[in-house]
Amino acid sequence: MAMRERVFASDNYAGMCPEAWGAMEKANGGHVVSYGDDEWTAKAADLIREVFETKCEVFFVFNGTAANSLALAHLCQSYHSILCHELSHVETDECGAPEFFSHGTKLLQVSGENGKMEPGGIEKAVRKRTDIHYPKPRAVTITEATEVGTVYSVGEIRAITQTAKMLGLKVHMDGARFANAVVATGARAGDLTWRAGVDVLSFGGTKNGGGVGEAVVFFDRGVAEEFEFRCKQAGQLASKMRMLAAPWVGMLTDGAWLKHARHANEMAGLMEELLRGVEGARVLFAREANSVFVELPEGVIRELHERGWKFYTFIGKGGCRLMCSWDTREEDVREFVGELAKLMG
Ligand SMILES: *Cc1c(COP(=O)(O)O)cnc(C)c1O
Repeated sequence: MAMRERVFASDNYAGMCPEAWGAMEKANGGHVVSYGDDEWTAKAADLIREVFETKCEVFFVFNGTAANSLALAHLCQSYHSILCHELSHVETDECGAPEFFSHGTKLLQVSGENGKMEPGGIEKAVRKRTDIHYPKPRAVTITEATEVGTVYSVGEIRAITQTAKMLGLKVHMDGARFANAVVATGARAGDLTWRAGVDVLSFGGTKNGGGVGEAVVFFDRGVAEEFEFRCKQAGQLASKMRMLAAPWVGMLTDGAWLKHARHANEMAGLMEELLRGVEGARVLFAREANSVFVELPEGVIRELHERGWKFYTFIGKGGCRLMCSWDTREEDVREFVGELAKLMG
């Protein structure tokens, strides 16, 4: 069967939300200054400063891999190392881009339950070696929401950043699904980031309902110095920057970004609730953001895929990842679980 109209593979299978699309269409009219010296880009950066309630430095790049790897490269020298969770996107899904853009800075994996690092694990990794033969730990990167659909609370982030500061590490946050984490925690964007000690954030727009483009947000403005040159050199300075910036204006004006994230989280909540009623389906992690991980028999997975339901089975520690997005409908979730229940029964 052909792929269904809406599936649960990833929130990047969804198109653009009307707010982002509408703003992009508006930005398309007439001539404006190129390379980011335009009003759309200024407005988008101002809206991000409003969201975070601070005068942060904002840069728009093509995708999340660029945002993460360029931000991390900017924090480190080539002989440094970066602590990350073993399941983190920077480690498992960026084809070595953080190492590439930093000219050799090494990612060091830290394990931890539920896709999260803990201060103890970070300290242990840093104190393990301090000699000249070991790449010197310089930064830690945490993912919010995590790769397995959980979220760090403000307290958990604070505990990590306190340990990081004590150990002389800068703190980066991969916020590909930051909006979902804001909604899940109910915290202010600033409380999850700079007020908790985060230095730089990769702020995801694409999965939230944008089309292309993520923001790199430096809360420590000193660290941002010359970042524009790094972006340009890496091929990440869009000449028609308004096309990356305008969707942000659409999403951040009147809180559409939170509305869409809330909806995606709620659909995942419904998915989890329905799955818990299916005998033999085992939910793997506490569902906190917009994805649910569930263990299903191989034959059932194959049958669902054949029926046009797309979802990944290789993310995290295995299991099926069911990802909801801004345009997931209640009937999509009910139809999917309905078919699944019949196959299980
Ligand atoms: C999707 C995602 C990214 C960004 O991926 P790109 O394909 O490079 O845009 C980064 N981090 C996490 C955790 C993601 O899920």
